[in-house]
Amino acid sequence: MIIVIKSEASNQEIENILTQVQRTGLEFSVLKNSEKTIILTQPNYDINVDLFKSLPKVEYVVTLNEDYKLVYKNINALETVIDLGDVKIGGNELIVIAGPCSVESEEQLEKVSLAVMKLGVKILRAGAFKFRTSPYSFQGLGKHALDMLEELKLKTGLKIITEILDYHDLKYFEKVVDIIQIGARNMHNVNLLKAVGEINKPVLLKRSFAATLREFLFSAEYILMGGNKNVILCERGIRTFSDYTRNTLDLSIIPAIKQRSHLPIIVDPSHATGKRDYIIPMSLAAIASGADGLIIEVHHQPELAYSDADQAIRLEQFEELMKQAKKVAEAVGRKLTF
Ligand code: PEP
Ligand code: MN
Repeated sequence: MIIVIKSEASNQEIENILTQVQRTGLEFSVLKNSEKTIILTQPNYDINVDLFKSLPKVEYVVTLNEDYKLVYKNINALETVIDLGDVKIGGNELIVIAGPCSVESEEQLEKVSLAVMKLGVKILRAGAFKFRTSPYSFQGLGKHALDMLEELKLKTGLKIITEILDYHDLKYFEKVVDIIQIGARNMHNVNLLKAVGEINKPVLLKRSFAATLREFLFSAEYILMGGNKNVILCERGIRTFSDYTRNTLDLSIIPAIKQRSHLPIIVDPSHATGKRDYIIPMSLAAIASGADGLIIEVHHQPELAYSDADQAIRLEQFEELMKQAKKVAEAVGRKLTF
């Protein structure tokens, strides 16, 4: 285990950490320079790493028993920042991605896009190929929707994120899409993960509704193993016994991921709650918990949306969300520019 202590730690605080290390009975040594103090212990696979991670002034802990290697935060790794030119994901600035669940028509796409763009959105979400639970539900306009997104992109300069279901479609995505989304239901699809790992395009990886943190990070590991380091994680709610929301937003995974991984993580309160009235409070909570941004479903006429109508927020609600999000971002030392 390697414990990196924050530079501002006092001698007493370093002593307290050392006392806990001594209690393990492991051999250890201390490295010190003007900036940091690092404690190295002999390997031990049974150690309660979380205890050390939670001690005051511990910056992070690296253990030898974590078997995901590339997504893991190691001593030299900087936080990953996804660079999309004039937009970045990760770092101090927060990103708000917004748009409809699905592309429904040229008119709908244009109405929603122009409205969210006016409020500062630079990345538009809109599903073309939809992974629906029921085969009788709207399945998306597929390739035709990608063509509409391409046209919109040319017209507006918006960046596009949309979900891929089948790696055979990658050829269409590479041309039009700025961020490829892997949905919750495909988080375990290793062939798809490997395929997007081999291309040089950012990937938004959504957590499956039944994935542990470890399984989630292993899926990201598959992508990084192929050479593609531009992965953004997304918490979108998990399935629990709680039935007043569609899923349960697991916000505690945000600090847990931040402790372990250098990858940015954003939150999708739309699929997490399934109800438009809960989107603003959960968005604010997500920012407060350290998320690097939000992905939100917005519709100009939510009641008429072809998919996920109950969770799409109205344009006025989105405007309010942006105002409040800015305040919370500032309160936690982050920036939200729009
Ligand atoms: C979506 O973003 O439209 C979607 C289907 O999300 P998820 O994969 O999280 O259910
Ligand atoms: Mn949706």
